[in-house]
Amino acid sequence: MPIKSILKQQLQQSAFASLAVVVSSVSLMAGSAWAESPVNIINAEAAISPITIVPLRDNISVLEGSGGNIGVMDGQDGKFMIDAGIAVSKPRIEEALAKISSKPVKYVIDTHWHWDHTNGNSWLHAAGATIAGTPNTAKHMSTASRVDDWDYTFPPAPKGGVPSVLITKPKTFKFNGQDIIVTPVKPAHTDGDMFVYFKQADVLFMGDLYWNGVYPFIDNKHGGNIGGAIKAVDVALKVAGDNTQIVPGHGEVSGRKELVEFRDMLSSIRDNVATLKKQGKTLEQVIAAKPTKEFDAKWGQFVINPDLFTRLVYQGM
Ligand SMILES: [Zn+2]
Repeated sequence: MPIKSILKQQLQQSAFASLAVVVSSVSLMAGSAWAESPVNIINAEAAISPITIVPLRDNISVLEGSGGNIGVMDGQDGKFMIDAGIAVSKPRIEEALAKISSKPVKYVIDTHWHWDHTNGNSWLHAAGATIAGTPNTAKHMSTASRVDDWDYTFPPAPKGGVPSVLITKPKTFKFNGQDIIVTPVKPAHTDGDMFVYFKQADVLFMGDLYWNGVYPFIDNKHGGNIGGAIKAVDVALKVAGDNTQIVPGHGEVSGRKELVEFRDMLSSIRDNVATLKKQGKTLEQVIAAKPTKEFDAKWGQFVINPDLFTRLVYQGM
């Protein structure tokens, strides 16, 4: 079987099934610009993807299949969600939420502004939910925001889809008998990320501060940078213990060990790229030196390939 088909098959079997099609189009592009923005491809895939419910502790679940992972806690007070997925998934997310219980969604926390985490805000707000996020998340969603790396300009979100509760320092929601601690961090994946910790359940939602088993995207243009991305994981690791269930923005639920491994990968690659950059090497020369080499077999098999990840690290320092 050709390598590309094997890769595609592996991806389709993984938690990243909805994005496998992106990888095949990237490899067809042989490293040049996108033939089609990955945003359009991911939206088309989300429009037909089933939503899978992965139960965690204490009535908390993860919904997979609509861009980034979505968190749902259910209980007497209603539902509390982490991220909203992509709007085209609405009928299947509604079905999944109804399967969990008939209680309404009261809150949605946006971990950051990217559309694969916030595009569903509008319909959830129309259904009665209050949306919370950082001021920078609200700012990027209120204007047209371009991501060159995805060759896509996002239009402003409708007013109801923009967070109305702005979070600038750690805030605890008391809901369904649970202390839910929402913590904004300094610029990392973007300039407006937050992680969310369910204290009694010991479940931590990282948003895109954590991609399990694959190189992450870093949105340098919207304030993200590799140094901040590493520091944000360090902050979260102070919260996570040996039994914490940790939900990444993309990939499967893990424990602390995998998050430490992700942090160490980021830090090693940052050091490798920094050394080359200090020697005066250009971006092209740094990419050619393959500073990610020892990590590529495990981490480089997804949308953010080794060359792109090297560029994101280089441009963010
Ligand atoms: Zn993101």
